[in-house]
Amino acid sequence: MRFRAVKGMNDILPDEMERWHRLEGAFRRAVGLHGYQEARVPVVEPTGLFVRSIGETTDVVDKEMYTFERHSESLTLRPEGTAGTVRAYVEHAIHAREPVTRWYYIGPMFRAERPQRGRYRQFYQAGCELFGDPGPTADAEMIDMLHGLFRGLGIPELCVAINSMGGPETRTRYQAELLEYFRARASSLSEHARGRLEANPLRILDSKDPRDIQASEEAPRLVDYLTHEDRDHWDNLLQALGSLGVPYQVDPRLVRGLDYYTRTLFEVRSDFGQVGSQNALGGGGRYDGLVAELGGPSVPAIGFALGLERILLALPEKRPDPEPFCFLAPVGPAAQKTALRLAREIRRLGQRAELDGRGRSLKAMLRRADALGARLVAVIGDAELDRDVVAIKDLALHAQQEVPTANVPAHVVQKLSLARAESRPPPPPPSGELG
Ligand code: AMP
Repeated sequence: MRFRAVKGMNDILPDEMERWHRLEGAFRRAVGLHGYQEARVPVVEPTGLFVRSIGETTDVVDKEMYTFERHSESLTLRPEGTAGTVRAYVEHAIHAREPVTRWYYIGPMFRAERPQRGRYRQFYQAGCELFGDPGPTADAEMIDMLHGLFRGLGIPELCVAINSMGGPETRTRYQAELLEYFRARASSLSEHARGRLEANPLRILDSKDPRDIQASEEAPRLVDYLTHEDRDHWDNLLQALGSLGVPYQVDPRLVRGLDYYTRTLFEVRSDFGQVGSQNALGGGGRYDGLVAELGGPSVPAIGFALGLERILLALPEKRPDPEPFCFLAPVGPAAQKTALRLAREIRRLGQRAELDGRGRSLKAMLRRADALGARLVAVIGDAELDRDVVAIKDLALHAQQEVPTANVPAHVVQKLSLARAESRPPPPPPSGELG
């Protein structure tokens, strides 16, 4: 019996992992420099948490959740990271410990969407949540952090789109206007948009259907309905982004999929070849009402999530040199015992060592070392065993040297450190831009 992975859920194998680690490392460094700390919350939450926070009439809750029942409780695989993070923030009364909290997470999310390039049913997000700061300075700083991260990664054709939803008052007034506008054009909308018109006209702006895009062309703009306070927040955000030199575009159609957003919304896009129609690499926004909605005090918050698969698709291929390591090639059982001890010793000193214990010929082992990209090979044959030495080959320099067995670990560590220092690029400038 053979099994296949669930449709839309991918295996990520070791040869792709280097790029994943590079991306996650750049993310952790960038957000760490801004004071974000990692939080890990469960992948499964009570279904009601997502319904309440994301919103009943959204695509995610309406059609895409993996929901099941266990011990008479309805549970859901998280479709996004904010709801669980806010649940944890409230549950542990973090607001009572500190006025401002910066958390980040990295992990898998689950949405039963139609799989295509850049759109999967299990996918990874890295995200940040900032609690306790009403902005707009914090909003600008977060958008600048994101932009810096993407720039540092070398992602081409970057665009930062922003918009403002305003607060509840703005939303109510705007929603009424929008409803009227779309009602008058109901016949030119897609069936799906027509179905959701009364419940959630805002979401039509988000539709990718060409009929809806055309029907939205002259729709009223959110930013024209902002209250005085909302407008102040928005103007200050634009000024702060301007003073930071972040290139942004105001996108009046940007409403984003989830219901909890208030005021600032943003999305980072790249049209760089491979991503195609799935060009949103990440996005987020302010959600000043959500902490209270989930039973906490009134704490303003803002956050974003990045789609790691999409970023990897947009990331230009650039394979760094492999980390130098030592391959041990023992010929015969006695040599294998020596090699086992030496490999353990080298690893204790903090260096990678790989041992071929399959009893193959020296020629075959050297081929294997080469295929793995080893820098050093420690050859232990009968001749070496007799004289209590090991032949250390440097595959890059095409050099060989005999070393007394007892000195091998220290010798290998020194050679590998030198090799690493030679291949290391100069340290990055202390600007905080990371690659
Ligand atoms: P969202 O939580 O919908 O705002 O999405 C944030 C980011 O996650 C998007 O910009 C995408 O990069 C990524 N993303 C969302 N849905 C998927 C999916 N089904 N497959 C892959 N990436 C996704």
